Amino acid sequence: MSSSPIASGPLARRNSRRVVISHGAREIIVGGGAPVMVQSMTNTDTADAIGTAIQIKELARAGSEIVRLTVNTPEAAAAVPAIREQLDRMGVDVPLVGDFHYNGHTLLTDYPDCAQALSKYRINPGNVGKGAKRDTQFAQMIEVACKYDKPVRIGVNWGSLDQALLARIMDENAGRAEPWSAQAVMYEALVTSAIENAQRAEELGMSGDKIILSCKVSGVQDLIAVYRELARRCDYPLHLGLTEAGMGSKGIVASTAALSVLLQEGIGDTIRISLTPEPGGDRTKEVVVGQEILQTMGLRKFTPMVIACPGCGRTTSTVFQDLADKIQTFLREQMPVWKGKYPGVEAMNVAVMGCIVNGPGESKHANIGISLPGTGESPAAPVFIDGEKKVTLRGERIAEEFQNVVLEYVESHYGQGSHS
Ligand code: SF4
Repeated sequence: MSSSPIASGPLARRNSRRVVISHGAREIIVGGGAPVMVQSMTNTDTADAIGTAIQIKELARAGSEIVRLTVNTPEAAAAVPAIREQLDRMGVDVPLVGDFHYNGHTLLTDYPDCAQALSKYRINPGNVGKGAKRDTQFAQMIEVACKYDKPVRIGVNWGSLDQALLARIMDENAGRAEPWSAQAVMYEALVTSAIENAQRAEELGMSGDKIILSCKVSGVQDLIAVYRELARRCDYPLHLGLTEAGMGSKGIVASTAALSVLLQEGIGDTIRISLTPEPGGDRTKEVVVGQEILQTMGLRKFTPMVIACPGCGRTTSTVFQDLADKIQTFLREQMPVWKGKYPGVEAMNVAVMGCIVNGPGESKHANIGISLPGTGESPAAPVFIDGEKKVTLRGERIAEEFQNVVLEYVESHYGQGSHS
């Protein structure tokens, strides 16, 4: 049998080293072919231990597999062990990553309980110190990481690029017969900074399988170019993220565009979506978006997906929009419990369609599908289960009844004793 010429799916994952980030018995594997992990970052004042622990719990509950928090002051460093203890008391074992800039060497040395409580340190080589201090302060942080056996992320950011290194690369460029563009010089500086600092960490005694790299920029094409080059030149696991992605749909679209291209090429071992929340908005949105990128690309499964038609002139009411929203929210809210109770449920598909034009066809392809009545159609909503029409719902309580159909399906197909 000859294979089809039409291939689908991402390219083989880049062959990277395997880094373990652990807290207690919880181990998160990054790289080495492990599934791509979703990270998030708090925006509370870390010195507020209770407020920060509550937000970390929410992020972990939403599915964040690693949570980063800034450790920027002595008060923040002092609060880290209390945050960890509070989380442990609440049964939240998500590994915590400390984000250090400027004074990280001092904080990690002066607050050993903080150094111990964290599962990984993020070091920005552009914000470690200037001149001769830079090397000693970087070495001090690596020594602490080695002492406590913690992995690090060498996280370069183009907003805080090591100026001495940039100057060196610009000088080298000036000596070229055909100098590179300013953009190419910037890319080279980012990639070189990440790799040289990783090598320096290894020279200082850190094992190569304790190092993750990132090179964050805010432009989609810049990010793709930099990570392709980084992936080509090293085998450290890579953390992907578009920095300062922005608010609302712009932030989501830009992050999705950049990360999708790289993930499709097999590049990237962890991701974070740097969304700016709306005032008072929900921080967990960045976790949901990260999961949805991975799930819609077919790389991981986190929560049952709702397929819904966009609606058109054939739908005169918002009934089906409300139903699609209710069902997606309901499914996501159930997942923290369902994850343990119904193994495999995250692969379930639910279709909510607005009329009979595409409704029954799309519904038949989902595990459970409902096709609501469009304008002029009889007020009945056929429900399809695994491709067969099983029941027709009518009346005011269609949403509740459909939710019950979903619950019964989950229990019978993924519950203990089911054969799925
Ligand atoms: S399924 Fe019906 S309501 Fe939905 S977009 Fe298609 S024609 Fe419009």
